Amino acid sequence: MKSSSLARKLLRWYDTNKRDLPWRGTRDPYAIWLSEVMLQQTTVKAVEPRWRRFLERWPTLRELAQAPVADVLHEWTGLGYYARARNMHRAAMLAGDALPRTYAELLKLPGLGEYTAAAVASIAHGERVPLVDANVERVLARVHTVAEEIRSAPAKKKLRALADALVPANRPGDFNQALMELGAMTCTPQKPMCRSCPITEECGAFQTATQEQFPRIKPKQKMKTVQEATIVIRDARGRVLLLFRGGAGSFANMWELPRVTVAGGESLSDAAVRAAQSLAGLQVTAGPELMCMKHTVMRSRIALHVMACARSRSAGNVCLSEHEEARWVTLVEWEKLPKSITQERVRRALATSALRDG
Ligand code: SF4
Repeated sequence: MKSSSLARKLLRWYDTNKRDLPWRGTRDPYAIWLSEVMLQQTTVKAVEPRWRRFLERWPTLRELAQAPVADVLHEWTGLGYYARARNMHRAAMLAGDALPRTYAELLKLPGLGEYTAAAVASIAHGERVPLVDANVERVLARVHTVAEEIRSAPAKKKLRALADALVPANRPGDFNQALMELGAMTCTPQKPMCRSCPITEECGAFQTATQEQFPRIKPKQKMKTVQEATIVIRDARGRVLLLFRGGAGSFANMWELPRVTVAGGESLSDAAVRAAQSLAGLQVTAGPELMCMKHTVMRSRIALHVMACARSRSAGNVCLSEHEEARWVTLVEWEKLPKSITQERVRRALATSALRDG
């Protein structure tokens, strides 16, 4: 297959078929970086308004670097995967006035992996470097009828080499986006729309009518279900106890209600009492379950049981074991603190009068 003819056809198709997305109208590396980071785990529809709002608040890299990380995390509320926001902030502080221009230099910043570094280098600076996401992998696995399982290391290596060979010196950033756009809009996981595809002649799967057989995918592992208990303890003024998790991990630098995983055979009441005792050193009596929030993290379905708890008369001061700080806050004060979307859902639910009275 001639790579140059595939690139030409794809670029022509992209010029007339690409979606009109706001970050496609800029060459600002910072704005492009932000869009790529937000899009990693979030839909285009959800990202569009948030991308605009973020840039209105911090229009430049320097302004982002000067912002308190708590404000950045708060702005990120609802987008999930907060490590992205923390890393962006750290990278902004390290970068100074501008992001580095090359792929190799960009890779040195925290949170910029191969994908994001390649996106900024190729789209903003025209560096000839491949950009490989799940859409690109699927298109190339079909075009080249890649026999290896798509998530395996040999497949990843092969697909990257194939992508590398395809990127033209002319308009590498547009080519990369064209390949991703083809995967997102035309060469879809199910029922690819080959009739409107510009590269049927180059596509091995199309030529052998085996599109549905590629990419090769092993069945996914089953989801596991996890029960968690999180507790609402109030002080004499009705404020709730929040704990601050520092360090690393998914929920680092965020505030949360004390929370434990319910052990096999353990009742929710016992788990609630254990959460107070083990995380805050408080003796409590477990009350009713206020609500249950269900959400999914990676391969786990989590049922978060929110339990009311009353402090024992003899309970002393908060004594932390895993967290860095504890605070008694009103629901309004809590609203302003960085937290996960699930914790925000709990806060909002508690703010309704029925639950507040409970
Ligand atoms: S011809 Fe079909 S299977 Fe091949 S790249 Fe195009 S849309 Fe995908």
